[in-house]
Amino acid sequence: MPALRIIARDPASRARAGVLSTVHGEVRTPAFVPLATAGSVRTLTCAEVAALGYDMVLGNTFHLFLRPGGELVERLGGLHRFMGWERAIITDSGGFQVFSMGHGTVADEIKGRRPTSRGSGGGAGQGSILSIEEDGVRFRSYIDGSERFISPEVSMAVQAQLNSDIVLAFDECTPFHADRDYTARSTERTHRWLARCLDWRAAHAGPGGSLFYAIIQGGVHEDLRISSAQAVASSGAEGIAIGGSLGQDKPQMYEVIDWSTRELDRLAPERPRHLLGIGEVDDLIRGVELGIDSFDCAMPTRLARHGTALVADPANRWRLALDRPAFVADEAPLAEDCPCPACVAGLSRAYLHHLVKTGEQAGGRLLTLHNLTFIASLMTRLRDAIIDGRLGEVAAALRAGN
Ligand SMILES: [Zn+2]
Repeated sequence: MPALRIIARDPASRARAGVLSTVHGEVRTPAFVPLATAGSVRTLTCAEVAALGYDMVLGNTFHLFLRPGGELVERLGGLHRFMGWERAIITDSGGFQVFSMGHGTVADEIKGRRPTSRGSGGGAGQGSILSIEEDGVRFRSYIDGSERFISPEVSMAVQAQLNSDIVLAFDECTPFHADRDYTARSTERTHRWLARCLDWRAAHAGPGGSLFYAIIQGGVHEDLRISSAQAVASSGAEGIAIGGSLGQDKPQMYEVIDWSTRELDRLAPERPRHLLGIGEVDDLIRGVELGIDSFDCAMPTRLARHGTALVADPANRWRLALDRPAFVADEAPLAEDCPCPACVAGLSRAYLHHLVKTGEQAGGRLLTLHNLTFIASLMTRLRDAIIDGRLGEVAAALRAGN
């Protein structure tokens, strides 16, 4: 049975609504996936995240591998049990984080130069890459400076220990400044690593019924994106993620996504698609139109912790920065008719401004609840609109701030 059951398609775009089946329940798509990077959606309890209507959260293999470690989480019953979340969990592979530590070094390595002294420069608190080989990546932990190793097999093993419902392939996230030649070679290696991930899973009997998503790379190059989509579609992965550099601005990003999903519509139309690390309001709307089924992004929760609320104000990128003096005595709520705990309680912008300015943790918590309510409502409206055949109209209203 396919993992994704598509229940409606928008005739005027590539959008679809569906239900994604995982071991830990169904995920209604298109879906936004809040980050639970280190096993917690920061400032919230899992019961609160579930009450906001989220079906899935994203755990971070790299961070959980380093602390507290896959073995410990497994011994304590897996990540669901450990963090008290009963619904679905998707885990990223660690590739993005490990390569983010030293893209300069990686570029040098792939271009055949010797690793630079930067490779040993990081101690505790600042990780660094020591070597990149075909086998995997050796790096220094940002936590204690110890030497660690991650590879496709290690990533698969740790994600199995976490008991993730959706496992992502171990890939290299190519940086934006990488040239075409670098990106091409890096994408080829990502495909070789994909085969090793699948081999590991075949040898370990598809751990726990989890779904495996391969990742399309290829930077901002159409031919590389299309050949990567082809490689991924023919790999037998149950789902497909789109990763890597998507460009320097939104039009380019939408074009890169379009290349990928157009090819997937041809080769793997029924398989679920996840867009990695993208989640601004306009990007979610466009991503849904381009046929993305799920998204994860730090934006709503990170903005909240930094004192910014999401509101229906496209002219200001849907943002309301509460630390501004304009809100010192503003009695209005964050948003009229918002069902989040802060707005339902009638808390004023003045009070939230005060919490932000004084650094009270309640400020980050209330804004996280508000922002995740805002995004949940956005995704519900998009999903309902696809089912009702009104996506064009609803997307236009959302873009206009209605
Ligand atoms: Zn609210």
